[in-house]
Amino acid sequence: MKLLLHACCGPCSLEPTRLLAHAGHDIAIAYMNSNIHPAEEYARRAETLRAWAASGGLPVVEGPYDPEAWERTVGAVAADAAKSREDRCRACYRLRLEETACYASAHGFDGISTTLTVSPYQYTDVIREELERAATAHKLAYVFEDFRPFYDEATRRSRELNMYRQNYCGCRISQAEAETERRERKAARKAAREAEQLKRSAEAAVAEEERLRKRAERKAYAEKQERKHRILKELREKNRDRSERPNA
Ligand code: SF4
Repeated sequence: MKLLLHACCGPCSLEPTRLLAHAGHDIAIAYMNSNIHPAEEYARRAETLRAWAASGGLPVVEGPYDPEAWERTVGAVAADAAKSREDRCRACYRLRLEETACYASAHGFDGISTTLTVSPYQYTDVIREELERAATAHKLAYVFEDFRPFYDEATRRSRELNMYRQNYCGCRISQAEAETERRERKAARKAAREAEQLKRSAEAAVAEEERLRKRAERKAYAEKQERKHRILKELREKNRDRSERPNA
């Protein structure tokens, strides 16, 4: 099948392109990710993907970078206190997969797929629903695969290739969430280190107390022995004096 594969980044494209090509699909990659914030990050991920795809002869098509469209749609969902994180991500998948399907339909592709399911941090079932929805709306086929079992291999290969690997999903909210999580993890590690230090200090204080107690015991015993020996000596000397004194 002539397949347009929506890709969120280079590292997540490694395993899906290998597996989909192995399954006989003729793949082009669609980098359609107006969710990514800021623009420098968008460009960095795009450049990483393009460089890797070029080395493997894979075509890449890029959608318009339109963060305002993301704010109008997904940002509006995120601003609604009644909506969940899953609602927000669903809207985000919808925006990107709809754009992918629209392009695929206009450029003679048979179907669409996505690399989003590589990540264990995404809502896999929601991705399936949104992929199907976008494909059906444009009378396209879709190839859904849960690529999560290949996440570790994708991580290994991307490290081996020295690819840029982002540390947050993409949008401004996920960036802030990731920063908060990192801060919390750092604070938790610091608290654990301090607790360990306190435990060691308390153990050292107990050991020192025990050492001082034993030393005091030894000192008291030695003094007692010395006193005893002195008394015995004095008694022996008195007895000797008495026995040496001539009888009156
Ligand atoms: S966390 Fe990821 S999928 Fe969810 S809204 Fe942000 S960029 Fe989109």
